[in-house]
Amino acid sequence: MKNIKLFLLAFALLWGALACADAGDDEYYYEDEAPAEETYSDPEESVATEEDMPEDVVSEDVVEGAVCIDVTGQIMQTLEDGGASTEEYADESVTVFEETPLVTYEVSGDQIANPSLEDVPAELEEQQSDEVTQEQIWEYYAALIPADRRNNIVQYSIFTDGVDNTLAMVSQTTTDPYTWALQVDIADTANYYSLTYTLIHEYGHLLTLGPDQVTPSEAVFNDPENVDILNEEANACPDYFPGEGCSMPDSYINAFYNEFWTEIADENMEISYEEDPDVNQELLTAFYEKYQDQFVTEYAATNPEEDITESWTFFVLNDKPAGDSIAEQKVLFFYNYPELVELRSVILSNLCTAFPK
Ligand SMILES: [Zn+2]
Repeated sequence: MKNIKLFLLAFALLWGALACADAGDDEYYYEDEAPAEETYSDPEESVATEEDMPEDVVSEDVVEGAVCIDVTGQIMQTLEDGGASTEEYADESVTVFEETPLVTYEVSGDQIANPSLEDVPAELEEQQSDEVTQEQIWEYYAALIPADRRNNIVQYSIFTDGVDNTLAMVSQTTTDPYTWALQVDIADTANYYSLTYTLIHEYGHLLTLGPDQVTPSEAVFNDPENVDILNEEANACPDYFPGEGCSMPDSYINAFYNEFWTEIADENMEISYEEDPDVNQELLTAFYEKYQDQFVTEYAATNPEEDITESWTFFVLNDKPAGDSIAEQKVLFFYNYPELVELRSVILSNLCTAFPK
């Protein structure tokens, strides 16, 4: 992409790789937050065992189809109840922490091990030591996403910025651009309807930005704050350049960009130059409202990476749409790929089994 601009690239350096789910439209998090005393157990009790999980997470007597329809319907309803506006999330009555890393696990297959604890303020020690919740979230993610589809996830981290704000992220690890880390805000995991949406969204980033889709740029990875290098790499890329590297010609993100973004990319990019976050959000909301029929959610209008990921999440969780709007056509986009249709049904089947009763 030749026209990629400096600020976007700088922005991408700071934020783009942290492909995240934003809680801007999720008012329900406030309602569903459990009191801390109920949510977090004592450290001494916090070792999850295999025996702990099945009762909580697996139900054997589900009627698959019915449960799936019910659960996916509830997930979408939960999203809708939150509304599509990002204006309301700055609720001043809610304490917002700075984003604070708590613990990082190594991932090997379905297992997580060797938790590495950060120094944290005393008020975050309970969340940090809540291994039961941390393991439950991982096991739920591992139950949803087939193992062979997430083998480049080598780290699983827990952080918090308080309720809402950032729900989860995926990013390249700091040591190897071919490996990725899943990061989850433990304060936003009590509601499994929204957690499911978030985890499928985060997987969408891995699906569309992973090394088999976007060849990682070693030069950018080794010197991530060097805007000149980033621009050189972007200019040398004949296809869409999402920040991690040059997308492959037949990658999902490149196809999606070429089909849906060529007319609106410049206008969207202009917005990314705005450094004031409030003004940036206002401009983004106006952009979304102008092109509302093109996006499945307001958050999708953020950039092509969030758009393909939100559209992916709608593809997984909704019935096949008619295609009457561009937003619906973005969902239909995924039906062009038989391997993704198959993956969708595997994830839905896993969801039926793993969703807590
Ligand atoms: Zn995202």
